[in-house]
Amino acid sequence: MTQDLLRSALEQNNNWLITTHKGPDGDAVGSVVAWAAYAQLCGKNYLILFPDQPAAYLCPFLEGYQWEVFQAEKHYDFDLLFALDYNAPSRVGQEMSGFVTSYPAMKIMLDHHPGPEAFCDYTISHPKACSTTEVIFQTIEELGQLSLINLDMAKGLYLGLMTDTGSFRFPSVSAYTHQMTAHLLSLGLEQHQIHEAVYDVNSVTRLQLRGFAIAEKLKLYPMQRLGIMSLSKEELKRFDYQKGDTEGLVNVILSIEGFDAGVFLMETEEGVKFSFRSKGSRFVNAFAQKHFNGGGHQYAAGGFQNGSLAEALAKLESLIDQI
Ligand code: 5GP
Ligand code: MN
Repeated sequence: MTQDLLRSALEQNNNWLITTHKGPDGDAVGSVVAWAAYAQLCGKNYLILFPDQPAAYLCPFLEGYQWEVFQAEKHYDFDLLFALDYNAPSRVGQEMSGFVTSYPAMKIMLDHHPGPEAFCDYTISHPKACSTTEVIFQTIEELGQLSLINLDMAKGLYLGLMTDTGSFRFPSVSAYTHQMTAHLLSLGLEQHQIHEAVYDVNSVTRLQLRGFAIAEKLKLYPMQRLGIMSLSKEELKRFDYQKGDTEGLVNVILSIEGFDAGVFLMETEEGVKFSFRSKGSRFVNAFAQKHFNGGGHQYAAGGFQNGSLAEALAKLESLIDQI
């Protein structure tokens, strides 16, 4: 499918179903918001469909947009499905993955995760892009539609850029990232409002949970230049855990001098969720994929393991020299 075919697919189909991955982060929400605003500008009907409820701090960005959480028994009648910020049907979770795979409409992926699976009719995948919102911006530029981008789109695009780059500091940031940012600011975007809306909305219990995790639950392995942090269900409950409270917490391990890898384990009702982070010449996605049913980017990956936190920790510790 060439650029012309993408253009005609966008022109000819008027009902767009906009999907993203489970546990949507800033790039996922930024991408669907930007794409919904683009749909509006193109005069399309659209619905943003999430596999699960986004964290509360991201919901203000969705105000004024049509969005809902997937319901297996509901009928969704659309002629184009967009897969934003994910590269495989499994990333939308068990309940929704069959729906995405078998959905009887043309599917278009816009994403930046390496190794996209072949479930879409048109795959726009740029693993070097710092965020999916950068992929969206570039695609719109290539369609010759940069002048369409308005302030509403800019807010979503910036949200994805800011959150997926750790506020413009990761190696994935390029000259193009800053050119894109300059374009968004020239539209009148007040970027400090996005930073404040995401980073200055802590609850006291969230800060206390993070403080507790750092003070009491961080185990350091100086020989391996690695830190492991974990939180049990009971500990999360004690600090009134809300979705998003541990977002980015694993990164504090990388801020310790001489450490270049960190793992965060969180116990959930279903099992244990892993977050892997690294920097420099150290990569974590292959390890996450091989041992913990996960994957992701070289420097930021995730995984999942059934069973208890103790079992997950024991398995991780037995593999520590391979990370
Ligand atoms: P996080 O630690 O923020 O949950 O995830 C970091 C990155 O790892 C995400 O951006 C995503 O690319 C990837 N990731 C997280 N969980 C999974 C998973 O279960 N499978 C795969 N393939 N990638 C994941
Ligand atoms: Mn992303």
